[in-house]
Amino acid sequence: MTTYSAPVEDILFVLRHVTDVGAIAKLPGYADFDVDHLEDLISEAARFMAEAIAPTNRTGDLEPSRRNPDGTVTTPEGFAAAYQRYVEAGWPAAPFAPEYGGGGLPWLVGLAIQEMFTAANMALSLCPMLTQGAIHLLGTHGTPEQKTAWLPKLISGEWSGTMNLTEPQAGSDVGAITTRAVRRADGTYRITGQKIFITWGEHDMTDNIVHLTLARVPDAPAGTRGISCFIVPKVVPCNGEANRIECVAVEHKMGIHGSPTCVLQFDEAVGYLIGEENAGMGYMFTMMNNARLSVAVEGLGLADRAQQQAAEFARERRQGRALGDRSGQSAPIVVHPDVQRMLLTMRAYTEAARCLCYVTAEATDVRHHHPDEAERARAEERADLLTPIAKAWATDLGVEVTSIGLQVHGGYGYIEETGASQHFRDARITPIYEGTNGIQAIDLATRKLGIRNGGAMRDVVGEIGATCDQLDHARHADLAAALRDAADRLDATTTWLVDHRGNMADVLAGATPYLRLAGLTVGGWLLGRSALAAGQLGDRPFAAAKLATARFYLLELLPQVRGLEPAVTAGAALLASVQ
Ligand SMILES: Cc1cc2nc3c(=O)[nH]c(=O)nc-3n(C[C@H](O)[C@H](O)[C@H](O)COP(=O)(O)OP(=O)(O)OC[C@H]3O[C@@H](n4cnc5c(N)ncnc54)[C@H](O)[C@@H]3O)c2cc1C
Repeated sequence: MTTYSAPVEDILFVLRHVTDVGAIAKLPGYADFDVDHLEDLISEAARFMAEAIAPTNRTGDLEPSRRNPDGTVTTPEGFAAAYQRYVEAGWPAAPFAPEYGGGGLPWLVGLAIQEMFTAANMALSLCPMLTQGAIHLLGTHGTPEQKTAWLPKLISGEWSGTMNLTEPQAGSDVGAITTRAVRRADGTYRITGQKIFITWGEHDMTDNIVHLTLARVPDAPAGTRGISCFIVPKVVPCNGEANRIECVAVEHKMGIHGSPTCVLQFDEAVGYLIGEENAGMGYMFTMMNNARLSVAVEGLGLADRAQQQAAEFARERRQGRALGDRSGQSAPIVVHPDVQRMLLTMRAYTEAARCLCYVTAEATDVRHHHPDEAERARAEERADLLTPIAKAWATDLGVEVTSIGLQVHGGYGYIEETGASQHFRDARITPIYEGTNGIQAIDLATRKLGIRNGGAMRDVVGEIGATCDQLDHARHADLAAALRDAADRLDATTTWLVDHRGNMADVLAGATPYLRLAGLTVGGWLLGRSALAAGQLGDRPFAAAKLATARFYLLELLPQVRGLEPAVTAGAALLASVQ
C-alpha cells in the first residue's frame, strides 16, 4: 500500500479558518499571490505529489542511497527523475521572493505544499527542505554579491543546499566544533575538518551542492561565540573545479533510507565567509528556526499518511464479529471500538499538529511582512514561542501516530510488506535532529518563558480564554470547560517555571512534560477554533467530522495535561538519583 492522496479539503480548511490566509495574502511582498487561486494551487500540488513523488517512496526505503568507491553517491531509482520534474514544475521556488526568481507565495502556503511533499516521500523532501534553509540564511545574511551568485540556482532547485554543523564530538553542543577556517590573501578561506550526519551531503540529483558550514578561524573565542559560517560549494563556480570535499561514508539508518546521510571530509576546501567572523551561530539560527518548523511538518506529513493508510486497512481487514451481529460473518476491524479509538486518536493528533504548524507559519509571515512594527514584534514573539512546541510536539506525535498506524495493521504492520512500518521508521529521526526534542523543551522553558517573564505564553493563555467564551456562546460548554481546565494548568505551570528560575535544575527537570502540556493545550485551543469554524459550514459530513474530531480531542485526549502537571512542578531531586 504505497498510495498517497493529499488531504486537500483539510488543508484548505486550516488555511482559511484556523489561520487567515486571506489576510496573509494582503501583506506587502505577496502581490504575486492571488488567494482566489488557492484551491487550484493546493489541488495541483496534491496531484503532483501523488503522481510524481509518492510512487518513489517505497523504492527509496527498499533501495537506499549508496556511496560508490569513488566517493560519488547514487540515489534510489526514480529519485533524480522525480526531483527533476519537481524543479521543472517550479515548485522549489514557490515560497521565495520574486527578486531572485521565487514564486512569491506566503510561507504559510509553502508549508502546506511542504506537508504534501513530506507525506509523499520524506527522504526525498529533505533535499529541498535543507535547500530552503540555506536560501533563508543567505537571503538574510549574505552580501548582495553572494545573493546574486548563489540564490537564483538554489531557489530554482538547480543546486541544492546543506547544513554542516555536526561533528563526532559536537552534536547538541554545537559550540564544541573544531573544523578550521584559515583566511587567504584573496579573502577566501580554506576549510579543514570532518562533518558527520550531513543530510544530502553528496548525491547525483544536482550539478552543485552548496554546503553552509560552521568552522572556527584561528584564535576564535571558545564555544558558540567563536563560530563562523561559510559557503563551501561542491564545485567552485568561478573555475568549475571540484572543491576539496570528499564523501567518505553514507550512514546505514533505521529509516529515511533514500536520504544520503553523509560523512564529509573537508581538506583545505575553498570557502566564502558569510557576514562577520565569529558571528556564524546567530546566522545559523536563521536557518535552524526555519528548518525546525519544516521538521515539525515532517511529523505532521507522516502522521497524515499513516492515518490514511490505517483507515483504509481497517475498512478492508476482517476479524471478529461486530457487537450484536449474530450472522456469523466476520466484520471489518473498523467496527471495533478499540480500533475506532486508534483511528480517531490518529486523526485528532494529526489535525491538531497541522493547526499548530500552520499557525506558526502564519506568525512567521506576519513577522517578516506586516507593515506595522508593533504587529511584527508581536508575531516574532509568537513564532519564537511556538517554534519549539511545534518542532517537538508535532514530531513526537508523528512517532506516536505512525506507531498507532502500525498497531492498526496488527502483525501486517510489523512485517515490511504493507509499508506501515516505513512511516514509523522514517518518523523516528524527527524528534532527534534539528535540535533534539529535549533541547527544544529547554529552549521553551528557559529562553521562551524568559520573554516578558512568561508574558508571551500568558498572551496565548488569554487568547485560549477568549476561545472558551466563544465555545460557551456556541453551546459547546463541555468543550469550553475542558479547554479552560487545560489553560489553567498551562498558566499555573508557566508561573511555577518562571518563579523557579533561581533553581535552574528544577526548571530543566520540568521542561519536557511542560512542552507536552503546552503542545496538548495549544492543540486543544486550535481544535476548539476549528470546531467553531466547522459550525459555520452548515450541515455537511465534512463539518460533522471536523466537529467530532475536535470533541474527541478536547474531551478524551486533552485531559492528559492533568497527569503532566506534577512532573513539571516536581523539581529535580528525584531525577538526580539516576546518576
Ligand atoms: C539522519 C540524520 C540526519 C542528520 N542531518 C544533519 C544535517 O544535515 N546537518 C547537521 O549538522 N547535523 C545533522 N544531524 C545531526 C543531528 O542534528 C544530531 O544527531 C543531533 O543534534 C543530536 O546530536 P547527537 O546525535 O550528538 O546527540 P547528543 O548531543 O549526544 O545527545 C544525546 C542525548 O542527550 C541529550 N542532551 C544532550 N545535551 C543535552 C543538554 N545540554 N541538556 C539536556 N539534554 C541533552 C539529547 O537531547 C539526547 O537525548 C543528523 C542526524 C541524523 C541521525
